[in-house]
Amino acid sequence: MPKIWVRVRLALENDSRNYISQSEYEQLCRENKLSDRQDMLFLSRYLHDLGVCLHFQDDAILKHYVILKPEWGTTAVYKVLDNQTVRKNLGCFSQENLVEIWFDSKYAQMRDELLQLMMRFKLCYPIPNRPHHYIAPQLLDVNQPDYTWDNKNNLILRYKYEFMPKGILTRFIVETHPWIEQQNLVWRSGVLLSAYETRAEVIEHYNQREIKIRVAGNRKKELLTVVTHELEKIHQSFERLQYDTLVPCNCTECEGSSTPHTYTLKKLRKYLNAGEYQVKCDESFKMVDVRRLIDDVNLPPLGENRKLNHQSTLLQQELKLDRDESLSSVVDQHTMNYQDFQVLVTEDRKIRVSSEQGEEQDDLRLEMSKINLALKLIERGGTDKDLLKTLGGDLYQALFPNNINGQLRATMAGAEASDYNVRLRLVFESPELAALPWEFLYDERTNTFLGNNTQTVLSRYIDIPLKKRELKARNSPLSILLVISSPTNLPQLDVAGEERLLRSALAKHVEAGTIQLDVLPEPTRSNINQKLRKKPYNIFHFIGHGIFENNKGYISLVDDNGEEKRLDDESFANFFLGNSNLGLAVLNSCQGATVSNSQAFAGIASNLVRRGIPAVVAMQYSIKDTTAKLFADEFYRTLALGWPVDAAIQTTRNAISQEVGLEERDFATPVLYMRAKDGIIMSGL
Ligand SMILES: [Zn+2]
Repeated sequence: MPKIWVRVRLALENDSRNYISQSEYEQLCRENKLSDRQDMLFLSRYLHDLGVCLHFQDDAILKHYVILKPEWGTTAVYKVLDNQTVRKNLGCFSQENLVEIWFDSKYAQMRDELLQLMMRFKLCYPIPNRPHHYIAPQLLDVNQPDYTWDNKNNLILRYKYEFMPKGILTRFIVETHPWIEQQNLVWRSGVLLSAYETRAEVIEHYNQREIKIRVAGNRKKELLTVVTHELEKIHQSFERLQYDTLVPCNCTECEGSSTPHTYTLKKLRKYLNAGEYQVKCDESFKMVDVRRLIDDVNLPPLGENRKLNHQSTLLQQELKLDRDESLSSVVDQHTMNYQDFQVLVTEDRKIRVSSEQGEEQDDLRLEMSKINLALKLIERGGTDKDLLKTLGGDLYQALFPNNINGQLRATMAGAEASDYNVRLRLVFESPELAALPWEFLYDERTNTFLGNNTQTVLSRYIDIPLKKRELKARNSPLSILLVISSPTNLPQLDVAGEERLLRSALAKHVEAGTIQLDVLPEPTRSNINQKLRKKPYNIFHFIGHGIFENNKGYISLVDDNGEEKRLDDESFANFFLGNSNLGLAVLNSCQGATVSNSQAFAGIASNLVRRGIPAVVAMQYSIKDTTAKLFADEFYRTLALGWPVDAAIQTTRNAISQEVGLEERDFATPVLYMRAKDGIIMSGL
C-alpha cells in the first residue's frame, strides 16, 4: 500500500465522526496529498472491502457518504431488528416506525441511508405494492403457512452443508422477494416462489443442515436455475463453505418418488471426468445416465471451479429486473455506472478512439467484397451462427485494429474490475459505413457479440453538438403513442394485427399501471399534432412505410382521403420540438416489408437525430411478429423502470438473442441512434 494511502487510512481511522460526505472524504484525501479522484475512489473501495469503512460507490443513495464507523450502522440496524413493535409484527415495519426507532440525532439525519444499508445487508426488503413498508425475514413467523402442492413431476434438489451458517434462507428471501407467492407464502425458514405458472418451494432444515428445493409447473428447469443461481451467489459470499449438491435419481423407481436415491454432484462429475456415463442406483440397482441426471436439474456438467456462470437466463434477468424495480421504488433512481469508449470514423475512414485510457488513431480497412455476400444473406434472412460470427468478426477487426483493440480490451478489463459497464458510442461520418449492421460486432476472443453482451452498451451517435435535452428519468407511467400508417395507395399493412400485437405484448404492464398505450387512427399530420398536445407522450412508436433517397428521409403518413402524405425528416422532427416529454421515436416496418423499406428507416433514424430528436430506434431489417412482441415487452418495460435508453436496447437485444437464438439476425436488428452529449466526442480530437 502506497505511503499516501496509509496516511489517508490513518486519518480516516482517527476521525471521530460516524460518517462523512463524499466531498468531505475527498477533502480529507487532498489534505493528505492524495489528489487523483480515481485513486480516492479506488482507496475507499479497498478500505470498504477490508471492512475499515463502508462506501457503497454504486448505490444511488449510499454513494454520497463514507461511513467511518461501520458499527454505527450495525447498531442502528439492530435497533430495528430488536424493536418490540417490529418483532410483534413479525418483521414488518413502515417508514413511520423508523422515524420512532431512529429518533436519536445521530440517526435522524440519515434515515434513508440507514434503511438502504439494511437492504444492502440483505436484512429487509420493500413489500411489493405496499409503499413504505418493509419486511425483515429473520423475524417472520416460524410456522409454515398452509398451501397446496402438486407432488407430480417435481424437480427436486437438495443442498447438504458440512457446517451451515445462519441466514442463508433469509438472504435468499430478500433476493427473490418480488416472486413470493401472494407475498404471504413466506416464513422464517422457507418460501414459495411463483413465476410463469411455475412454483418453487425452498425450505431450510437447519438441524439437518439442509436446504430442500421442489419445483412444479411448466418452466421447472428455468425456475430451478434461478433458485440455484441465487443460492450459489449466497454460498460464494461465505469463505470456504463446504456443501454437497444432491441430485435425485431418475430411474423408473425413483422418478416421481418423494424420497428418491440421491447422488452428490461432485461424484457425478467425477464419473464424467473418468469417462463413465452410467451409474447404478442404490435403490433399484438400475443403471442411469449421468449426463441426464445433471441435465435434468440444469446444472453445468463440468467445472470444478465455483466461479459463477455469468450467462444468465431470461428468467434470471427477469428476477433481477423485478428486484431492481422493487428496490428502485424506494430509491427511485436507477444506478448504473459506465465508462465511455467512443469510436469516431471520419469521412476519409480514419478511426479515432477516446476513452479513459487515452486516445488512439488508425485507419479503417474493410474489404466490402469480403462481407457483401454475408450482408445479402442477412437481408434475405438466410443466416446461421457461423455466418453472423464471421461477419461480426470482420467488422470487429475493421473497427478495432491493433492498438485500438488493445485499448478496448483495457477499458473492458478496467470496467469489469470496478463493476462498471462499457458504453460503446459509434459515430460514422459517412452514410455508407453507417449503413452497415455494426450491431453484429463480434469479439472472437471472448466469443461475444458486443451488441447483446451484458457488460457493454452499444449505440450509434450523431456527433453534432445540439442543444442539450437529455432523456431524463421519466415520470411514471411511460406513455406511448402508437401510430400505424397504412395509406390506401401503398402496399397494405395489417393495421389491426399490429395493434393487437403491441397491445398483447404490453398488456401486463398496462394492467400494472407502468405503461400507457394509446393508438392513433388516421394518422394525418394534424391528428398527430392534436394528440400530442392533449397528452404528454414519452414515445412515438411508428409502424409503416419510409423512404430514404438522396440523403433525405420521408415517412408516409396519410392525408384526409387516406392516401399517402409524405413527411420529410425535418417536418417529422418538428413533432418533437418544443415537446419536452417526447424523447424517443421507434420506427418499425412490419413483417413482410421490403428490405429497402427497413433500411430506409436506419437512414431516416440518423437524420431524425440530426434534426433534434434525442433518440431514435430503427429496425434495420424487417422483424418477425414474435420478435416485435418480445422487443416491445422487454424494451418498454425496461424503459418504464427508468433505465437509460441505450442500456434498455442492449438488454432487449440480449433478450431477443436468448429467445430467438444467435443464428438469426433478429437480435442485431434494433439500431439505436442518440445524440452525443455536447462536445464529448469531439473533445481532444
Ligand atoms: Zn433410482
